[in-house]
Amino acid sequence: MAKRSPLAEKLDEVKQRIATAAIKAKREPSEITLVAVTKTAGLEQIREALQLGVTDLGESRVQQLAQRAAQLNEFFQRRQTFSDGSVPSAGGAAAPGAAPAVRWHMIGHLQRNKAKQLVPLVSLIHSIDSLRLAEELDSIAEKAKKKCNVLLQVNASEETQKSGVAVGAAVHLAEQIASMPSLQLVGLMTMAAFDAPEAQVRQTFARTREIFEEIRWQKIGGPAMRHLSMGMSNDFETAIAEGATMVRIGSLLFGGKVMDHEEEGEG
Ligand SMILES: *Cc1c(COP(=O)(O)O)cnc(C)c1O
Repeated sequence: MAKRSPLAEKLDEVKQRIATAAIKAKREPSEITLVAVTKTAGLEQIREALQLGVTDLGESRVQQLAQRAAQLNEFFQRRQTFSDGSVPSAGGAAAPGAAPAVRWHMIGHLQRNKAKQLVPLVSLIHSIDSLRLAEELDSIAEKAKKKCNVLLQVNASEETQKSGVAVGAAVHLAEQIASMPSLQLVGLMTMAAFDAPEAQVRQTFARTREIFEEIRWQKIGGPAMRHLSMGMSNDFETAIAEGATMVRIGSLLFGGKVMDHEEEGEG
């Protein structure tokens, strides 16, 4: 049997760690979606990840998400054309033609002037953190006749430089977003302080879960309100212990330490 690629091994290892953390928290591993964050990955690695069964990809910049979505579409369409028989093949070994289904997640800070480009491409936007941004998205989604799934990003670590709505304003903003006709609020997202002690990281995730429970208790968002996007390469197990349903993992899969976990200026 051929030696497995480094990415295949890392992916297995990450899935295994997710499962172990889930079981330790008395949860079902299948409740947790792995969002593979591709901002440091090459296109080749992204294709390989899809072929290994990854279905959810995350990017923190609209430009890069759009570019990669287009490149992947082109690649898989071309491959489909070939395997449809336009290329003579000496029997067999034709790649299965169907393009893998990809769900794109926008995980970085979103500027209002990029929202229009993003809406048709994205399955879930993790980073709604203001009423103005939500209103802009709602009106764009309405024109596009699309229901846009969003998470409210909460600044639960209370770092001043961090994106996200303040803890004390989160429930009210969730209620406003949930009332917008073309947005579907499906949960909360947070980021813990980078390199903070584990107890502090855990506190950030626990606080986010408490806000999430408060929102659900008030029936804001209804049954769709069921996701907690929290946890990255260095803290996803802690996040799972506190109820994460989506973990956003980049460097552990693709390498490339990026210190810049918020987006840099998109111009
Ligand atoms: C880059 C990024 C991640 C992934 O971080 P890693 O440490 O590389 O796993 C997760 N969430 C957000 C918002 C990011 O910008």
